[in-house]
Amino acid sequence: GKVLGDRYELIERIGGGGMALVYKAKCNLLNRYVAVKILRPEFESDEEFIKSFRQESQSAASLSHHNIVNIYDVGKENDTDYIVMEYVENKTLKQIIKEEGPLNSNRVIKIGKQIALALEHAHSNHIIHRDIKPHNILVTSNDTAKVTDFGIARAVTSSTITNAGNVIGSVHYFSPEQARGGYISEKSDIYSLGIVLYEMATGTLPFEGEKPLSVALKHINEEVQDPRKVNKSIPKALADIILKATQREQSKRYENAMELYKDLDIALQKPMGN
Ligand code: ATP
Ligand code: MG
Ligand code: MG
Repeated sequence: GKVLGDRYELIERIGGGGMALVYKAKCNLLNRYVAVKILRPEFESDEEFIKSFRQESQSAASLSHHNIVNIYDVGKENDTDYIVMEYVENKTLKQIIKEEGPLNSNRVIKIGKQIALALEHAHSNHIIHRDIKPHNILVTSNDTAKVTDFGIARAVTSSTITNAGNVIGSVHYFSPEQARGGYISEKSDIYSLGIVLYEMATGTLPFEGEKPLSVALKHINEEVQDPRKVNKSIPKALADIILKATQREQSKRYENAMELYKDLDIALQKPMGN
């Protein structure tokens, strides 16, 4: 296969979203598998995209956590920007929900706690992910969750306002303030995690619609409904956590990811059905 930077031999394509392609690759120097994310060629001449691609590597590279995909290296070859990262033998959480339907609540909590820890680490380093969704959570065979795709993450100190001209996250996981294009904060990630918990527990999304705009309007105007209306087997403690994380008003949500983590931990210890 094609070799980048004299050492990363591309093996197969494993994914790719709007802006990039992701390959499984072998680092011939260290003799290990890595994942290489390459900016799509059509964006190579687009300064905005190159900027946000570099932003991604810088945001993620400043973090080091068991539940965040590790960045190893960045490079540029023949005008192609690439990021080299930890290869996660994966399914995305989206695939798991699609294949298995609603996850049992112990598993929802186990995976949710790990995402909360990843967010706590990012937030304490002043980085907001801004695109928390099941496609961006890789899950290994022993249910270790790793957050990836800091593509639109921003340092809290720089512009924390969503820009209509920029690539923005998935509207199904948007907090109301994100949907309005207003000021976002760490609590926007908490809201998105709440939606992810809802989706894991019910196998469905709280808000759907024909067009992105109609979904965005629901996040702005409607309260997330009790997930037990969809799946009666969800314990009340978990339903309460989901409802608190997805409050429309930021001040009513969890203060931070660690508070959410602690409540998930308590819910795990409660007998089922309570
Ligand atoms: P998006 O449209 O969500 O912004 P993207 O172009 O930014 O997508 P990523 O979300 O980073 O790309 O990666 C796309 C897909 O590639 C992931 O959903 C996953 O399936 C796979 N992938 C990404 N990173 C890794 C990794 N480190 N190890 C294994 N697979 C990965
Ligand atoms: Mg992605
Ligand atoms: Mg992305």
